[in-house]
Amino acid sequence: MHWSITLGRIYGTAVRIHVTFVIFLLWIALADYAAGGTAAAAASLVFLVLIFACVLAHEFGHILTARSFGIRTPDVTLLPIGGVASMERIPDEPRQELLIAIAGPLVNVVIALTLILWNRAGPGALWSLDFERASLVERLAYTNAALVLFNLVPAFPMDGGRVLRALLAMALGLPQATRIAARIGQAFAVVFVVLGLFYNPFLIFIGLFIYIAAASEQQASDFRWFAHDLKVAAGMEAKVASLPRSASLADAVTALLASPQRDFPVVDEEGRPVGLLDREDLLATLRQDGPETPVAQVMRVAEPVRDTQPLEEAMAAMNREGLKAQIVVDSGGRLVGLLTRENIAEMMLIHAVRPDWRFSSGRRGI
Ligand SMILES: [Zn+2]
Repeated sequence: MHWSITLGRIYGTAVRIHVTFVIFLLWIALADYAAGGTAAAAASLVFLVLIFACVLAHEFGHILTARSFGIRTPDVTLLPIGGVASMERIPDEPRQELLIAIAGPLVNVVIALTLILWNRAGPGALWSLDFERASLVERLAYTNAALVLFNLVPAFPMDGGRVLRALLAMALGLPQATRIAARIGQAFAVVFVVLGLFYNPFLIFIGLFIYIAAASEQQASDFRWFAHDLKVAAGMEAKVASLPRSASLADAVTALLASPQRDFPVVDEEGRPVGLLDREDLLATLRQDGPETPVAQVMRVAEPVRDTQPLEEAMAAMNREGLKAQIVVDSGGRLVGLLTRENIAEMMLIHAVRPDWRFSSGRRGI
């Protein structure tokens, strides 16, 4: 996630803190300092840091469960609205998603129960807690209990919504379950925003976050569904102009202006790609070094993908590495096309209006 600082690693997962979270802490501390001086500011900071330690423990509930199913979890980011653990993929088995989703709130249940036992008061004491006068332990127990209830609201992609999707997926399959869960999640998001306008502005942020996250989860699910049995050849642009290794930037400009293509594979004498020239690099070098510069000096050396590779896998790698385009080669290592985000976006548009559309091999125009 952009604008975040890595604090360290726990069990191989990078723990990040978002800049907005630091600002949030400072803001709370300043507000409490203005109201009650240094002691009040320090007390509220200690409380907040402990709460976010509980949030982090919650995220590690998800992370360690996901890890036990062989899912990689590169990082977790703390935001003012909570933690977000990144996962390499959604488990295919609804049962696994159910367990991963429930593991987070379960950590807070354990923390709350431990604190209640430590405090030697029954859990009933939390119902009538006077937050202003309560001890730190009581307030922590209360907040953990509140975290459990809040996270279990079935607003996908919050934990409760993931549990809901997993349950629906057992009966309806993942694509349909995601569509229903995302709709319900967005309905909750609207309710949160409206409640936020009257009660707590914080709910507005949470509502907006849920709304956007539900939409992007739905999109990812749609993509997975339509791409699950497709090969790279079906999703690539097959009519691709390339540049010989000996070409100059002037030749690249001619090629750029001759077509809507933005990225140009650079090929050797046998037609095997040796690199990829993208428009930004072309423009930057053109300004700095001039049109005589050989493209071979500017191109990026990129590992090509095979035309027979699963499309989903190739797109996941592009997303992971932040690539805009990937060179596609056949079994002989010769250039056969280019895999671009624009092309995939167009396929998604076709899929949206005709879900039954069969995308076959991408050798269009031939
Ligand atoms: Zn969670």
